[in-house]
Amino acid sequence: MQFKDIEGQNVIANRLTEIIDQGRVSHAQMFLGDTTSGSLALAIAYAQYLSCTNRQHYEGGPLRADSCGECPSCKKFQQLSHPDLHLYFPNASNDKTKSSTNISSLDFQSEFREFLLQHKQLGSVEQWYQHLDIEKKQAIIRDGDASDMVHALSLTSYEGFYKMVVIWMAEKMNGTMANKILKTLEEPNPQTLILLVVENSERMLSTIISRTQLVRVPEWKGASRFIGEDFPQLYVTWMRQLFKLNMYTLSQWVDGMHARTREQQKQFLYYAQDALRQCFLRNNAGLPLNIDFGDAKFNASFPTMITVNNIERLNDAFDQAIFAVERNAHAKMLFMELSFRISKALKKR
Ligand SMILES: [Zn+2]
Repeated sequence: MQFKDIEGQNVIANRLTEIIDQGRVSHAQMFLGDTTSGSLALAIAYAQYLSCTNRQHYEGGPLRADSCGECPSCKKFQQLSHPDLHLYFPNASNDKTKSSTNISSLDFQSEFREFLLQHKQLGSVEQWYQHLDIEKKQAIIRDGDASDMVHALSLTSYEGFYKMVVIWMAEKMNGTMANKILKTLEEPNPQTLILLVVENSERMLSTIISRTQLVRVPEWKGASRFIGEDFPQLYVTWMRQLFKLNMYTLSQWVDGMHARTREQQKQFLYYAQDALRQCFLRNNAGLPLNIDFGDAKFNASFPTMITVNNIERLNDAFDQAIFAVERNAHAKMLFMELSFRISKALKKR
């Protein structure tokens, strides 16, 4: 992961590359913030920059520096296969591991890589549980990970540089793992980098927090990164129904949204609002459409529906719907009302 691929977090990225360039790397850091805001992506980009043998520096750009993306180390990082990078994350037994009791992150490395690459390292913990098919289980980072980490850190680095440990959702560490981390932090090795990626610091031991340097990752409210795999299709179906206003199929669609989690509903609303903004810019400023609805006909025709006469009305409708979702409004009513408002606005173009 290069910093340039993490949207909306240039300020932090610049701070991180500066720290490395000045040789002030702290051996233990806690990246605190939602994964969807880029906390995990930033931690991995940080490790990649640290290991890059051809760091790039820019003048006057939004980023002051970045890893090259092309040296042997960067190439391994892009595939998340660098031998000195150790990833730990919450896990639980699933169909693959059956009822095996001694499972660990090692059992799910390929699934985790696949998940990270698929979601550009911005997937939520909820999406990870879906990916592993363990939604109803208690996922934690357990003893097996603790012994693997101790072993990994006892070896010499393959590339003769840092040994890097990234623990995603570190608040899910069990007692054994937390104690091993604590011990590592108490007796730091200069060639070791521990990056804890945490969403809720209240669940972390204060003795661990006090031994790490805090990197606070601000919430990022943009939309394009919140994309769920089926959002484009869901969006196209919805918009087509709003033109026809077929109450039967529309209420089926609304039921489908109602069945989703509140977080997914919110993410979809962000996605849909961003889609309108993109269409407006395409239609009114001639900018390229930065979104693909997976339907060539829709890609071509829908932007022409979004004009100066309705963009504000549409934006307001979405702002209010997002506000209402955050306040636990009844999803069925909310999506139905929003549908009527959009349908009306689209006809006023
Ligand atoms: Zn590089």
